[in-house]
Amino acid sequence: MPQTLPQKLEAMRNYFNGGATKSLAFRKMQLQKLKDAVLQHEEDLYDALYADLKKSKEETWVTETGFFIAEINDAIRNLHKWMKPEKVKTNLLNMPSSSYVINEPLGVVLVIGPWNYPLQLLFTPIIGAIAAGNCVVVKPSEFAQATLNVMKEIITKTFDENYVLFVEGDGAAVVPEMMNNFVFDHVFYTGSTMVGKVIYQMAAKNLVPVTLELGGKSPCIVESDANIEVAARRIVLTKFSNCGQMCVAPDYLLVHTSVKEKLVEALKKWIEKFYTTDPLTAYSYGKIINEKQFNRLLGYLQNANIICGGTHDASKLFITPTLIDHVDLSLPVMQDEIFGPILPVITFNTKEEALKIITQHKNPLALYVFTQSNTKEREWLDSVAFGGGCVNNASWHLTNYHLPFGGRGFSGTGAYHGKFSFNTFSHKKAIMKTPTWFDPDIKYPPFKGKLKLF
Ligand code: NAD
Repeated sequence: MPQTLPQKLEAMRNYFNGGATKSLAFRKMQLQKLKDAVLQHEEDLYDALYADLKKSKEETWVTETGFFIAEINDAIRNLHKWMKPEKVKTNLLNMPSSSYVINEPLGVVLVIGPWNYPLQLLFTPIIGAIAAGNCVVVKPSEFAQATLNVMKEIITKTFDENYVLFVEGDGAAVVPEMMNNFVFDHVFYTGSTMVGKVIYQMAAKNLVPVTLELGGKSPCIVESDANIEVAARRIVLTKFSNCGQMCVAPDYLLVHTSVKEKLVEALKKWIEKFYTTDPLTAYSYGKIINEKQFNRLLGYLQNANIICGGTHDASKLFITPTLIDHVDLSLPVMQDEIFGPILPVITFNTKEEALKIITQHKNPLALYVFTQSNTKEREWLDSVAFGGGCVNNASWHLTNYHLPFGGRGFSGTGAYHGKFSFNTFSHKKAIMKTPTWFDPDIKYPPFKGKLKLF
């Protein structure tokens, strides 16, 4: 008899309670199986990511498959260390006890992914969930269908569905169906801030802990003393990679007035070098995911002062790398997260002026500053409450799994990558062990007169 979704989730709970997922050997074997399955499907994944987003093989390797392999290798290599109980000091009051922290699996966890890096953003959290000894429900975005199909094959052929369950469908229907009928032990969500709030509310009903990896408007500041050539090259790469459909892409530029013209010329030069004079046919340039996103992005170009690009092809969902300036800050392009290949270039004269623009949006996911001055670098990093970022670079901080990746407040809560993923999916169980040979009376009532302080 076919099981309903809630019944399948209960079966996962029973499987988890049986303890099968807890040993180091089991976890390592599952990670290895997942890695092997991804490598076996490497060509299928290249084809799928080309079909969904026109990603080149090279871009897919750096941002999806290779990224995933680096993370899973790190977990396989280090899991035995991560799992060890962590000894901590014990304070004088509790001497001669000893203290340690056990990393315990949470239970049955739900991982929800978006469409822009459909493999990386779904499978990287799964590494953490498996490494930490959990059962995992995997919910991909319904908007990257070709990649979804390959991921479904990988998961369903590799794992028993009591252990890792693949659930597809309209997120607005299937996620509430699960969260309202089953108490997950953790929900890990990547996607928009708007839907993040819905997830948080559903989780709150049962006090389910969440990790929210959300979006936001990430500013990129170019100071008067920046190396403009290098800045332009790095900004063009990270803004137009995946057609700007990247949570940590520079959303808009804040450039010191004195270097604006020089920067714009350099940006144009690198756009042409990377994507030719006809980006719509360029090997390294992608496409917009679907018509809804395409139309949203075109809306930003209505009445915009386009200084580069702006051409498009609706039949192929292409929009060329586009620079706009003289931007009205009250327009949607400066109110929404752009999430596409449109880059507003805004000038500033003083830091206060620039800060006023940045703080219109609470908690950017990322912030980038290009400057040669250590003082300016520090001032910028200390002035804004953002998730993480780069100095003299953009977006690449996300690829270093020794750094925790995540937002704060409106751009998210919690973090992952490398060991931080393991921590996210583990409960830190605090234990104090007290020997029986020493049990002084002073700790027990009646207390009167025992402590000289009173
Ligand atoms: P989205 O919020 O529309 O969808 C993400 C996931 O949520 C999908 O699996 C979808 O099916 C599901 N979903 C949609 N509506 C839902 C609902 N009402 N209830 C429950 N689940 C629902 O996001 P998206 O358009 O796929 O991704 C774009 C956004 O994600 C951007 O804002 C971007 O910045 C953000 N993002 C953040 C990160 C990060 O790591 N912080 C990474 C990628 C994307």
